[in-house]
Amino acid sequence: MANLQKIGAGSRPDGVVRYRTDRDGTRVGVLPARCKRQLHSLHEAGYKAVAEGGELRVTCTACWDEPNPDHSWHLTLTKPTPARAELDDAPYAGITPHFQQTPVPARTEPPQVSHRHHQQPAPG
Ligand SMILES: [Zn+2]
Repeated sequence: MANLQKIGAGSRPDGVVRYRTDRDGTRVGVLPARCKRQLHSLHEAGYKAVAEGGELRVTCTACWDEPNPDHSWHLTLTKPTPARAELDDAPYAGITPHFQQTPVPARTEPPQVSHRHHQQPAPG
């Protein structure tokens, strides 16, 4: 009865990617316009969308630097993959973000930083 449940393995999607069809028939993926934590507008903060294993991860670049382990929407991709994407909150109005229950390590020692004080050549 080993490996009954791998905690933390695999992510739980927040929903499926919404699509709309352009006037010329192009399939357009619609992504949430706010980051998962509802803190930033992705129009302003910027985002990174990565498709992997049938899932689209939309990561807020403003949350990226924060210690919170879950700052990405996990949206299930359905085929065919759209040629382009746009941001619109409307189709995601009723969505409830599932925050990954990733344990945040309580203040221990800071992570090892291997690079220290690189000598930057002076510009010019
Ligand atoms: Zn954010």
